[in-house]
Amino acid sequence: MKTNRRVFMMQIALGSSALAMASVAARAAVTKLDANDSYARSMGFVKNVKDVDTKKWARKYKVGQQCTKCQLWDGKETDAYASCSFFGDQHTPAAGWCKNFKAHGAA
Ligand code: SF4
Repeated sequence: MKTNRRVFMMQIALGSSALAMASVAARAAVTKLDANDSYARSMGFVKNVKDVDTKKWARKYKVGQQCTKCQLWDGKETDAYASCSFFGDQHTPAAGWCKNFKAHGAA
């Protein structure tokens, strides 16, 4: 009987470890925003700000804007990618841009 209890407890411990590892793996899975996604394209999203269509977005785009300088970007200046709350926390590149850019400190 004691052996069965020990085996049962070991199975629970192993199961918990497997669940914890699966949870870590799920959090580590990063979804990068697809620049070819139709919604992203309609927002003018580009992976690199040098590719902004400055004629089309002349009323929105200003030199110096990029994801790292946007309120909606949840990363540090040194991060290559970070989540963007506008795109449902999909990750956008540091040098990215879209028409929803909102400067830090802007209302
Ligand atoms: S909302 Fe900001 S962080 Fe998100 S893609 Fe546009 S410029 Fe980048």
